[in-house]
Amino acid sequence: MSLIDINKRMQEESGFIPPILRQNIITGDWIVIAPGRSRRPDDFIHPKMEATKSSGKCPFCVGSKGYKENEIVVNHGDIYVIENKFPAFYEKRSATRSYYPEDAFYRERPSVGQHEVVIIKDHDTGLTKLSKSLTSEMFWIILERYRKMKEDDQVVSITAIYNHGPEAGASIDHPHAQIFASGIVANTVNREMDGAERYFGINGVCVYCDIIKHERSEKSRIVYQNDYFLAFAPFASRYPFETWVIPKRHQSQFENSSRNEIDEFADAATEVLHRLEKVLPGLSLNMYVRTLPVIMNDCGYYHWYLEIAPRLTTFGGFEMGSGVIINIVPPEKAAEYLKK
Ligand SMILES: [Zn+2]
Ligand SMILES: [Zn+2]
Repeated sequence: MSLIDINKRMQEESGFIPPILRQNIITGDWIVIAPGRSRRPDDFIHPKMEATKSSGKCPFCVGSKGYKENEIVVNHGDIYVIENKFPAFYEKRSATRSYYPEDAFYRERPSVGQHEVVIIKDHDTGLTKLSKSLTSEMFWIILERYRKMKEDDQVVSITAIYNHGPEAGASIDHPHAQIFASGIVANTVNREMDGAERYFGINGVCVYCDIIKHERSEKSRIVYQNDYFLAFAPFASRYPFETWVIPKRHQSQFENSSRNEIDEFADAATEVLHRLEKVLPGLSLNMYVRTLPVIMNDCGYYHWYLEIAPRLTTFGGFEMGSGVIINIVPPEKAAEYLKK
């Protein structure tokens, strides 16, 4: 059965159109085409924060109608995990790895993998106000999902993300993280691995370990540190108040962290998030874990970290056209604010 046949059948059966991957023939970057349930053009023009708690329609609030429809993957303490209703990566297996449509000119792949939502039960406490222990619980559950998802031999890399606030693309006003497990290497990680491998070839050290060493002696961009993690504003920050939280010892894979390391990680991340909320009340932000593809095992030149990207400005034509970002807050200044 071809991908087109599968799509057609899925659509007929449930109204759901499975996502597919398309490769940019020029850059090699992957794109997910995920129509989900067909939308009207209207949906794009007036994006709305659907379903708040006050409307009584929040699908993530425990006991709500939406909640009851979900298949719960994990239910533990203050958190539960479900499969995403409109997955970007879908577990349907396919016979071949790639398709070459249009006389084999382009390359497509089935968007295999999994897409889960990690939900904090309390509707009212947003990311930047979560306690250290709950943040640690959340990251530990995410880590356990990584370990589970990598057992699937189709899964190549996993990306955990958190969208906080409307400017960060959070369409549901209930605190939740998401885990994307896919059959491809994330474009960003792919590029970073290239650069890091080159640096390793020239200097014989992990570039991230080198950055940590440098930032600790330079001090001006450090926001916070504990025994295991360093939080700092990167030298070439793309976003105002961009902050990285990175393990001090060399470690290429997030999912290999110990429980104690996750506690320390949550301590550093929460510290940064609380300070951001204090300096910029009500801000929107995205955060994501960059980590080695799960099919690889410990790598000398790649080093996992969390990137926190506040969404205080939007990208204009120059940023989109040139890929060169104009950041109006020097990272040294951002660190100064966040340090206090
Ligand atoms: Zn809710
Ligand atoms: Zn390193």
